[in-house]
Amino acid sequence: MLSVLAVVLSASLSLPSASYSNAALLTSANRHVRTTDRYVQQLLAEGLDRSPTLHALMGGLEATDVIVYIQPVSELPGTVAGRLLMVPYRGTGRYLRIQVALGRSPSEMIGLIGHELRHALEIAEARDVRNEKDLVMLYERIGDRSHEALHQYDTAAARLTGQRVQRELV
Ligand SMILES: [Zn+2]
Repeated sequence: MLSVLAVVLSASLSLPSASYSNAALLTSANRHVRTTDRYVQQLLAEGLDRSPTLHALMGGLEATDVIVYIQPVSELPGTVAGRLLMVPYRGTGRYLRIQVALGRSPSEMIGLIGHELRHALEIAEARDVRNEKDLVMLYERIGDRSHEALHQYDTAAARLTGQRVQRELV
């Protein structure tokens, strides 16, 4: 019986998102993915309705100490469509800011959000990452350089996740 229980427990741990409704992920007062922007909120709602991958990403972040704020911006430096910043904070919990550049189709925007949320999960899983310097060290290890410029990294997981989210919207 014990082994059965262990299997059941680990199965539910590997699918944390299963227990979160879309409404809870979008509006719960202590949700981990937040935005003050109405358009981004609409994109999240649409993405949750249509993309199981986005649902799993947002549900996965609920089980971590990371809170993510998504902010739309009109432009980002260079050819960057989205980026993620660590918000300096000395208390418990960690805060990330995702910036996504507007001017893309809704499904491209949702894919972009999925891509950046995958990075948020990468950081959430690296529990010792607490500032920009730690972040650079993490991506020196797990990332690949997407640009010549200093401190710009990407991961294959995030690229694949963004593409998968976008495919699921069709
Ligand atoms: Zn990326």
